Amino acid sequence: MFENLSERLSGVFDRLTKQGALSEDDVRTAMREVRVALLEADVSLPVARDFVKAVTAKATGAAVTKSVTPGQQVIKIVHDELINTLSGEGDPGELKIDNPPAPILMVGLQGSGKTTTTAKLAKRLTEREGKRVLMASLDVNRPAAMEQLAILGTQIGVQTLPIVKGETPVQIAKRAKQQATLGGFDVYMLDTAGRLSIDEQLMAEVEAVRDVANPRETLLVVDGLTGQDAVHTAENFDGQIGITGVVLTRMDGDGRGGAALSMRAITGKPIRFVGLGEKMDAIETFEPSRIADRILGMGDIVALVEKAQETMEIEAQERMMKRFQKGLFNMNDLKGQLEQMQKMGGMEGVMGMMPGMGKMAKQMDKAGMDDGILKRQVALINSMTKKERANPAVLQASRKKRIAAGAGLEVSELNKLLKMHRQMADMMKKMGKGGMMKKAMAAMM
Ligand code: GDP
Repeated sequence: MFENLSERLSGVFDRLTKQGALSEDDVRTAMREVRVALLEADVSLPVARDFVKAVTAKATGAAVTKSVTPGQQVIKIVHDELINTLSGEGDPGELKIDNPPAPILMVGLQGSGKTTTTAKLAKRLTEREGKRVLMASLDVNRPAAMEQLAILGTQIGVQTLPIVKGETPVQIAKRAKQQATLGGFDVYMLDTAGRLSIDEQLMAEVEAVRDVANPRETLLVVDGLTGQDAVHTAENFDGQIGITGVVLTRMDGDGRGGAALSMRAITGKPIRFVGLGEKMDAIETFEPSRIADRILGMGDIVALVEKAQETMEIEAQERMMKRFQKGLFNMNDLKGQLEQMQKMGGMEGVMGMMPGMGKMAKQMDKAGMDDGILKRQVALINSMTKKERANPAVLQASRKKRIAAGAGLEVSELNKLLKMHRQMADMMKKMGKGGMMKKAMAAMM
């Protein structure tokens, strides 16, 4: 999967990494090529556009690291942005199959690979998680489809609900639930009927089944080879039925990959699994970072840049600690600390890690020092001149007014910040003398 896209991208980045310094133009040209590559892979236009925009913004603002080239850095940014595009906040992870018997509703168009995927997932749940699974086909119009599921069930050693002629899908769903409950099954999977295209009757039927089954998961199976059509299908099904995730099949083929890249951004629904062949084991969980690696195929460079960034952060920390040991602690240092705190989960998170500082963190918390304050404090420091940051002692009334106004805040907030800075500077001095700083550092690392 993704071969064409991979090839196109590696062409772009080969050229980029061969260059030393990158001009804005170089980046812009490369990004134009990335955009074309994405569109050719059938990624939807707004997704491709947002992707390139995000990468360009980050590439322009990225801190330059000595040990990697700008081109390598851009690759890492593209890699991270791919992961961003492929995943989303609150990704659900494993299938929700608590409270047995947990119903899983399988929906999708005919030929998408729904029945095959139902069996693949049943096999997976049985073998990997030791679950007892019951499968039922609800495709009353196509006896062959019911037979197909029964055959697959025998093949993988998973029970299927006996076929009873003349039942409606809703009746079958009810019977499946009953048998799953009586038989002590952990999961029962309902393989609904597919149609060649979305029609009202199909949707009404699936809706009725959904209402009686009350599924824990509703998985839409779509053919990854159909690109943006797969995304439209998902939008439709989600709008009418409500889905909890997507399974993209035929990702073993030479599909262009657009469906995978657009799905999350356009539908807001996560891809949960990818189908990679006709065999019953040919299914994988969808891991954005692994997919990003596959698309970009530049794992070495990504690892190199990660390492360099880590080293850079450690070096900066060490430089700062040396300053603190000497009792130096100006507004730039404070800003660095505040930003670090934001990254590490706020005041209490960071200070709680330093011996003797837990109490201070609690006091700060009581004084209303939440993360909103962290942001405002950084804004105040940003509003200071270089000289003022290096030596806050020069701040008299008129300067204070200017700084507070620049940050859109009151002078009283600035005074609080200055007081905190004095307290921290005092503490740094004391700790520096007593060798406490090393201990505090060790505790933080
Ligand atoms: P349904 O009509 O949606 O139930 O589709 P089926 O499960 O019957 O699948 C249709 C065809 O696609 C079958 O020949 C499957 O073997 C094949 N198929 C399903 N998933 C995949 C996949 O991930 N990769 C490949 N190459 N073929 C698949």
